[in-house]
Amino acid sequence: MTNKLRNFSLELFPPQTPEGAEKLRAARAQLALLKPRFFSVTFGAGGSTRDRTLDTVLEIQREGHAAAPHLSCIGSTRESIHTILEQYRAHGIRHLVALRGDLPSGMARPGTFRYANELVQFIRIETGAWFHIEVAAYPEVHPQAKSPLDDLLALQRKIEAGADSAITQYFYNFDAYAHFIDECQAVGINVPIVPGIMPISSFSSLARFSDNCGAEIPRWIRKRLEAYGDDTTSIRAFGLDVVTHLCEKLLAQGAPGLHFYTLNQVGLTSTLWQRLGLSAAGAETLP
Ligand SMILES: Cc1cc2nc3c(=O)[nH]c(=O)nc-3n(C[C@H](O)[C@H](O)[C@H](O)COP(=O)(O)OP(=O)(O)OC[C@H]3O[C@@H](n4cnc5c(N)ncnc54)[C@H](O)[C@@H]3O)c2cc1C
Repeated sequence: MTNKLRNFSLELFPPQTPEGAEKLRAARAQLALLKPRFFSVTFGAGGSTRDRTLDTVLEIQREGHAAAPHLSCIGSTRESIHTILEQYRAHGIRHLVALRGDLPSGMARPGTFRYANELVQFIRIETGAWFHIEVAAYPEVHPQAKSPLDDLLALQRKIEAGADSAITQYFYNFDAYAHFIDECQAVGINVPIVPGIMPISSFSSLARFSDNCGAEIPRWIRKRLEAYGDDTTSIRAFGLDVVTHLCEKLLAQGAPGLHFYTLNQVGLTSTLWQRLGLSAAGAETLP
């Protein structure tokens, strides 16, 4: 598969303050030069970033780029999701990342939807084929899954409910992704499953985040990152080598694209993009 047929996308989170919004605008101007297929914008569980996600998506659209809002359903009512879908439709947004989300601590009510497949089904009932729907997938297994098979079947239910493609949680084990794709194919999941890529900028935050979301930092990587201590230059240089190699392997083995978790930062994602020669892929992608 040539790069022109693959999906290269960038994930952002909505800013919390006017200063954050200004910084994100500047970062986005740089990231837009990479010509990603789309920018996705995260959504706080329970609707906590609802307006900020919408505002960010609309800004991206006004700047002339494709935007895909994330939409998580935990803690939400049918009515609130309906309202959000109508807003996106009214603004001509046609691409969503549909998620369950995680209940913020202290929020006891799960709301109308228990799992993401129920959200996907609701979106299809409400809006037919209007949206291209992405869902989340977990090559290293979602931390709350009863078993790897249960998790695979949960993904299958999301596809059967009408999802068009999936983006994975980040991982650093190539074999976890390769094995997961084999398992998906064995149960008849044939939609594109785009690897999520997390650049490495610091050890402590990556370790904390990875523990929470169930992504493994392989021992050989963890040991080296730990040993660099506060030497961020070495951490970033080593991280770039590790992640470049992972992405090269993924693309060589036929991954249908890459989705970068930018954390609203330009440097590492841009460098990875250049190293992988993705600029040439440009926006000339699938219809
Ligand atoms: C690409 C990507 C983007 C993300 N963006 C956001 C975001 O913007 N905002 C946000 O809050 N979070 C986001 N997340 C995190 C995500 O919300 C969490 O990982 C959440 O815990 C699970 O969401 P899901 O959509 O995968 O849930 P689901 O697919 O519903 O799965 C959640 C868990 O329930 C299990 N399960 C599913 N169905 C059943 C069932 N019927 N019975 C029992 N168990 C079941 C699954 O195996 C899994 O363990 C993102 C994750 C990824 C990979």
